[in-house]
Amino acid sequence: MTPFEGQYPTRYQAVTLQNVAAQPEWQRLDPEIREAVEVVARVLPFRTNIYVMRELIDWDNVPDDPMFQLTFPQREMLAPEDFNAMRDLVRRGASRKEILALANEIRFKLNPHPAGQMTHNVPEMDGQRLWGMQHKYRETVLFFPAQGQTCHAYCTYCFRWAQFVGIQELKFEAKEVELFVEYLRRHTFVTDVLFTGGDPMIMKSKALRKYVEPLLTPELSHVRDIRIGTKSLAYWPQRYVTDADADDVLRLFEQVVKAGRHLAIMAHFSHPRELSTPIVQEAIRRIRETGAEIRTQAPVVAHVNDDPEAWAVMWQESVRLGMVPYYMFIERDTGPKGYFEVPLYKAQEIFAEAYQRVSGLARTVRGPSMSCWPGKVRVVGTATIKGERVFVLEFLQGRNPDWVGKPFFAKFDPEATWFDELKPAFGEEKFFFEEDIEEQEFHWWEETHETPVAIPLPIRSSVAV
Ligand SMILES: *Cc1c(COP(=O)(O)O)cnc(C)c1O
Repeated sequence: MTPFEGQYPTRYQAVTLQNVAAQPEWQRLDPEIREAVEVVARVLPFRTNIYVMRELIDWDNVPDDPMFQLTFPQREMLAPEDFNAMRDLVRRGASRKEILALANEIRFKLNPHPAGQMTHNVPEMDGQRLWGMQHKYRETVLFFPAQGQTCHAYCTYCFRWAQFVGIQELKFEAKEVELFVEYLRRHTFVTDVLFTGGDPMIMKSKALRKYVEPLLTPELSHVRDIRIGTKSLAYWPQRYVTDADADDVLRLFEQVVKAGRHLAIMAHFSHPRELSTPIVQEAIRRIRETGAEIRTQAPVVAHVNDDPEAWAVMWQESVRLGMVPYYMFIERDTGPKGYFEVPLYKAQEIFAEAYQRVSGLARTVRGPSMSCWPGKVRVVGTATIKGERVFVLEFLQGRNPDWVGKPFFAKFDPEATWFDELKPAFGEEKFFFEEDIEEQEFHWWEETHETPVAIPLPIRSSVAV
């Protein structure tokens, strides 16, 4: 028996619209809040679980509690007219068909496919599109395992929300692992693979192993870094402590490290409370024991973490627990963006204020950053140059690698919440990278071995001890 048995729920149980009313906490909710959950959840995905409900949400502080805001749909996430229309259908017990029709109508107004997410960066090989993969930046290929397309709980601000309500059709190949491996074999300039979803850690270790093990062959030694994007540490740390295959998952992590690769768990932590339970701290300890590193990231969103104190504590606690603060993101322009958005200047102030409070060890974090069509754009700050107030920006990642590391400027706009709303400063017509964006759509999949090759792993036949 592990020290955590009996102390935390150890059998995973999802809580959705189907069973939420059976939870004791439901009875404590104001009827208006209950109705809002029942209405909004018809349009946007809703899934939480008993660990989140019992251990993370402070029910004395509902509805303002950040953990409640993080997983329970809120009335203001829909425009008033859309909310009212759906509420009327729910109240009069309309048919599933009617509710679905209205839900889809509302969903299509919420920009379900931001920045060409699922279509623009899908590679091609031998005339075949490799659905389930994305290749936007030269070094890194994203892989969406077919079996990892859900999460232990859904974040209300999720930018991939459309995937979970079925309006964004993810197509997967039957032979997806073979195609993935073949693609990597042909593109030796790829150094990083990022498993994403959904959440790949929703998979049983046996399934995860089928995707990860084939990468460990010497033939793919240019794949130096294997990343797994996951919210599981926050939402179900039992995954690494008490789940039946917890030990086997950790063995797989060890195997990756022993094969000479860097294993990076890209952990999504939105609020310091997620880091506070003894079981998450034990999960972190156990993962680190395998030789894997954990990097932390999240978007800055209203109602959850738009507060420098939350970030400073999160970064400091991350460092203390042996994790590396990585990115602060700006929430994307999709779904209930109006509810969660933070103006760019304010996000940058939150970042700077938190950054000023922590030691250099936590200043590995970069942001706030927008993942938009041309790349990852960081809002460095604001400045006044020759009398004009401007945003100072830079690319942390670019479709064109040459764009990285060159500061550029946009007109200051206190209302701007996303990259599209920004205009070049100093009366310029275009941003510098827009000069070549029209003729250059980068297709990394068309590049072959001539593209600068990743430095291969120094393979030694034996290691002296
Ligand atoms: C963020 C991101 C990456 C990884 O970028 P790094 O700066 O190397 O962490 C890769 N692909 C996509 C599509 C991304 O958004």
